[in-house]
Amino acid sequence: MCKRSVEDKLDTQILHVHLKICLFEVHLSIDFAHMDIFVQRIRCGSIVRGSDGAQELLGQAKSIDFGARPQGEKSSTYVRYKIESNPAPPRRKQPYPFYPRVGKMGLAGLLLREVFEYGFKLRRKEYRAALMTRPCIYGVFGSRFGGFHPIREKCTGCMRCVQEYPNFCKVDRNPEFYKFADSYWIPEDPATASGSPVATVSYEAETGKIPIKGMGYKGAFAGPGWDSMWTDMSEIVRPTRDGVYGREYISTLVDVGRKQRFLDFFNRKPSQSTSLVEISLPIIFDYLPQNLNGQSILQSIAGAAARTGTRFIATPSQAQQFSRAQRQQLIPMISPASINEDHDSIFAAQAIELTKYESEALAGIREINPRAPVSVRVPLSNDAPETALELVQAGVDIIHLHADYHGRGWDKDNPIFVSDLVRSVHGKLVKESLRDDVTLIVSGGITLAEHVPKAIICGADLVAIDTTVLVALQAQFLGECKSPETGHMAQEKFDARWGEQRLTNLLASWHDQLIEILSAMGMRDVRRLRGDVGRAMFNEDLEKEAFADIEHAT
Ligand code: SF4
Repeated sequence: MCKRSVEDKLDTQILHVHLKICLFEVHLSIDFAHMDIFVQRIRCGSIVRGSDGAQELLGQAKSIDFGARPQGEKSSTYVRYKIESNPAPPRRKQPYPFYPRVGKMGLAGLLLREVFEYGFKLRRKEYRAALMTRPCIYGVFGSRFGGFHPIREKCTGCMRCVQEYPNFCKVDRNPEFYKFADSYWIPEDPATASGSPVATVSYEAETGKIPIKGMGYKGAFAGPGWDSMWTDMSEIVRPTRDGVYGREYISTLVDVGRKQRFLDFFNRKPSQSTSLVEISLPIIFDYLPQNLNGQSILQSIAGAAARTGTRFIATPSQAQQFSRAQRQQLIPMISPASINEDHDSIFAAQAIELTKYESEALAGIREINPRAPVSVRVPLSNDAPETALELVQAGVDIIHLHADYHGRGWDKDNPIFVSDLVRSVHGKLVKESLRDDVTLIVSGGITLAEHVPKAIICGADLVAIDTTVLVALQAQFLGECKSPETGHMAQEKFDARWGEQRLTNLLASWHDQLIEILSAMGMRDVRRLRGDVGRAMFNEDLEKEAFADIEHAT
């Protein structure tokens, strides 16, 4: 065969392959056009039904911004999911978290030495001002009397003064600061702890920013609860190079509900009985009982959920005052006994939560609203894995695993921490090849932004926050607040717009921190993190690895 005819034959074959690919794409487009699928608009997490199939998909593709475009070209409509924050200062003066103290003799000695050192320079005003604020750069010692009368509320706890002048500077925790929360929120040794959950949540709710602490971490290597696991940040150099909202998009969207086990492009009938609810961040607001709630708190939660696109769980009676927009974010919590009474709430809901499982109650809800995924609250305890398995087999779409407010399971003897219990539930469902049939919501003991990725690593799809809301809103606990039944707080009214902003700020800060962590792991989608225990180190495992072979000295 001559060279020319070989080339011709090759060309014909390439054309053939091309045509086949085109035909396949057309076929796929037609199928997409008829399938009952949801297409996520990567715009503010809003969802559109893909009834227009290929057209819709093309529209989506066009709306994605792939980077800089030539000048004058029409700008894209793509908007990245981001929660806007605004300052929301505390509604009442709260005690300052740190208590810096300076030895007067030591300080006088330092000032005298510096007077001799600066000499004639002190004729200049700025040198005199600098001298009078020594040794703090945050203005704690910037009053008329300098360090002899510190302005304690300005202290950030950076410990610079303690490191530079250990002989006469000391910074303690202010015990008054912890009085409005309970023991779960207080570090084991407040006087030496390098951080405080109350201070962190207060800062996040006020500013919406990521708390940044200088001077490195000075706390213990490991601690109880969430402090016994560390997330792996080994890929920190990659996507973080241009910031949280840099060029690489990191998705924090989660699908809530029963997922389809496999894709079936040729079955034109929808094979999934309930729909999926997509939430742009894996954090929702949990139900708070009346003893830990009030109209101002409820309105703040509903407003923040509407602004951020997340959901909140409340009973239909709690939701009576809400606007239509706020009610769209509601997951009504229904008791099996009140299905008929709450008919309208069930009918209008995108997702529903049952206080406990009863097969007739599930069937009743399905009859009223067959498309809404149904969640069942399950108390976390040693038998939670078996319970979860039974619920998935019974057709429940979502399981809400809840520990107590201190993150402990409900077993009377030696209750296990929430992270271990969630791992056991997740592991059981993976073993039975049923994990993707259900969504796991986890609540109880989630008080800091870092607890969200940790819970997801343990197997949660998303988390629900409870008492963290109260701390962000400066509610005052009355005694220990360990469970919905025993917790109490001082009832007070406040401006719900202020509360809405505080909670919006809190979620904005947690969302940013989640993106930071995902980017440091080199991950672009929070859904990939679920159950990925290889992304974390567990203190218990490390101790076993390091010390298992060492015999005890006697
Ligand atoms: S801890 Fe930092 S902010 Fe506080 S007084 Fe010392 S130097 Fe100033």
